[in-house]
Amino acid sequence: MSILPLYLAGSWQPGHGVPLASVNPADNQPLATVATADAADVDAAVTAGQAAMHDPAWRDLLPHQRAAYLHRIAALIERDAERLAQLQRQDNGKPILETRALVGSAAGTFRYFAAICETLEGDITPSRGSYLSLSTWEPLGVVAAITPWNSPIASEAQKVAPALAAGNAVIVKPSEFTPLLALELAKLADEAGLPKGLLSVLPGTGAVTGAALVAHPGVAKVTFTGGTATGRAIGRVAADKIMPVSLELGGKSPNIVFADADIDQAINGVLFGLFSSQGQSCIAGSRIFVEERIYAAFTAKLAERAAALRIGDPASERTQIGPAITPQHRNKVEGYVALAQQEGGRLLCGGSRPADPALQSGNYIAPTLIEGLGNRSRTAQEEIFGPVGVLLPFRNEDALIAEANDTVYGLASGIWTGDFRRAWRIGRALNAGTVWINTYKQFSIATPFGGNAESGIGREKARDGLKAYMRQKSLYVDLSGRPIPWAD
Ligand code: NAD
Repeated sequence: MSILPLYLAGSWQPGHGVPLASVNPADNQPLATVATADAADVDAAVTAGQAAMHDPAWRDLLPHQRAAYLHRIAALIERDAERLAQLQRQDNGKPILETRALVGSAAGTFRYFAAICETLEGDITPSRGSYLSLSTWEPLGVVAAITPWNSPIASEAQKVAPALAAGNAVIVKPSEFTPLLALELAKLADEAGLPKGLLSVLPGTGAVTGAALVAHPGVAKVTFTGGTATGRAIGRVAADKIMPVSLELGGKSPNIVFADADIDQAINGVLFGLFSSQGQSCIAGSRIFVEERIYAAFTAKLAERAAALRIGDPASERTQIGPAITPQHRNKVEGYVALAQQEGGRLLCGGSRPADPALQSGNYIAPTLIEGLGNRSRTAQEEIFGPVGVLLPFRNEDALIAEANDTVYGLASGIWTGDFRRAWRIGRALNAGTVWINTYKQFSIATPFGGNAESGIGREKARDGLKAYMRQKSLYVDLSGRPIPWAD
């Protein structure tokens, strides 16, 4: 198998790191071998990025001219949408219906930040004398965008589009498990005529390529999505460099069902919130709180529906649950199922691998629901990142809020109720960056996304998502020409 080159400073290069294999999680067969970047490649990409962003050909573009590049990238993603969606389900194992949506969202992200780039305004601030005082926005420099494996192309677009729209150069380090879509994005940016050096895509491991990027003195910001432990390590390096970071980290989100909810809707929402993307989602609603008086009936129905979810080949449009990303990750998830039982949990469904002979070569795990554990159990506290949920009965609102917030995370949450006042009350009380009411996992590029507590620092998307890649500059202009009193 030939080695796919990496994209460095606008050219395709063999890289100096150890090549890595990208493997299809549905059958564990290699899809491609990909070149990786070592520290010297990182250094070359940073140098090229600095030169490109300061080149008048990019630096002096008018906003609509910069936006035009982003619109062209969006159009090329749309042109190649089906091919990209098929490649992503092979690289990542998400069902095709999900990867199509992710590719569509990536194109939308480029269009949105093209518009924001054109409409960005500075401020004329109230002056304290005969001055014009202004606050303007300028790019930061070379941005390192480090992404996880669970939503390739959407994660990269969420960082690359605003970073470029803001006038920066950007270096993407995709997950070593899913490097292919970021390389495709580089091809499209190249075809769109993006000036060379503004975008580099450097596959590699976190320990080699990721760490070299974060530590590089020429990297002005790291925008990171991934696990909390990695985010903490990056944050430490950033503290030493006095470098801004955005950290989109893990979660263990509560999804709360009240007795007065539309129960069929709630069941669908809980299933989707937990099991879509086979639970490999930072926002998975994996702690399911159910009001005590409907607990038995609700959980019985939920388990019956979970057991009937269609596990299978991600290529099929009927598939709801695909494979875990790697055999090692499936082992980790299964380790949590074993732990849950040691902790005293009872399986309501799942807990095993599907018996279907056609699925034996993939990393499949049946949707799993566990009851009988407290919110303080490790199973209920630690991010499993697989199709495993814990059911927790609750009796009253105060106890519910205390338990729902009793986690190190604060990423997302869901509330299912027919009482809008209660939804408002609880939504305000939950410690989470996003609260869904009678829905779950709905997104808009125009609405901020990010986590509280150990779920992260900063927000992505929305108008301020552009400013996350910029810094403010204040300017004072003397309008009077009067002598400066102190010096007079
Ligand atoms: P991970 O932290 O293992 O890896 C993420 C990325 O960081 C990869 O590209 C990896 O190579 C790189 N990396 C690892 N060590 C590094 C280091 N020392 N320096 C620089 N880079 C390094 O996470 P993962 O397993 O790929 O993804 C799953 C995690 O991502 C889960 O915890 C999930 O909740 C989280 N996630 C969060 C969000 C969000 O928006 N909050 C979205 C998706 C995934």
